[in-house]
Amino acid sequence: MTDCIFCKILNKEIPSKFVYEDDEVFAINDINPKAKKHILVIPKKHVKSLNEVENFDLIKKMFEAIRKINKQEGIVDFKTQINTGRGAGQEVDHLHIHILAN
Ligand code: 5GP
Ligand code: ZN
Repeated sequence: MTDCIFCKILNKEIPSKFVYEDDEVFAINDINPKAKKHILVIPKKHVKSLNEVENFDLIKKMFEAIRKINKQEGIVDFKTQINTGRGAGQEVDHLHIHILAN
């Protein structure tokens, strides 16, 4: 999607170091971290939010990626967060899971 920050990062229009990447998912450090480690796990397919997910295999892939990322980053204790909709604090309209670890 042309006007989406995460799609622009995926397409290298905005430079950002990828912490993780596979065929369906990528991950970056949050630009404004709210924990010592704050990683965003993002599907390559532009899906607006959890409310628009049609195939939940994608969510499975994202959580499998989280396990790999955490192993790679030495994260054992962590929170995950999915903000869905403006009223819940979703700022970027491209589905993502926050990993928060202190
Ligand atoms: P949301 O509030 O939509 O659940 O989370 C969006 C997150 O994306 C926020 O934590 C915000 O700091 C992060 N963010 C917004 N723009 C950028 C960016 O250009 N690069 C990175 N790495 N993170 C971003
Ligand atoms: Zn997008």
